[in-house]
Amino acid sequence: MDSNEFKSFRKKLNKTQKQMSQLLGTSLKAIHSYEQGWRTIPPAVERQLFFLVSRISSSPNANKPCWRIKKCPTERKKECPAWEFKSGNLCWFINGTICGGGVRKNWNEKMNVCRSCEVFNSIF
Ligand code: SF4
Repeated sequence: MDSNEFKSFRKKLNKTQKQMSQLLGTSLKAIHSYEQGWRTIPPAVERQLFFLVSRISSSPNANKPCWRIKKCPTERKKECPAWEFKSGNLCWFINGTICGGGVRKNWNEKMNVCRSCEVFNSIF
């Protein structure tokens, strides 16, 4: 996530920088730094921001489980933590999901797959 995306999500949530720092459990200085591009936005912050935005989504697909949208067969579902932990459309939140060719080794690699996925994009 870059500084512009961070800023646009904060505006989408209708929060001031101070309110955002409280929501994310970080300092006001950190929020300034993220928005100015002085500091890289850590995966934990990015993940929480996506989560908050997903909770105010009005997309018609926003409440459909990923395995229904992606039409995953039973055998694949049984192997996937998104199904195991009943994550619904929050599959992108959980590391270790197996869509897009298998488990990714970290959050950034997973997000590369999720960012082009209809399930992830349905939350915005
Ligand atoms: S690619 Fe990401 S958003 Fe799409 S179904 Fe898999 S975990 Fe969910």
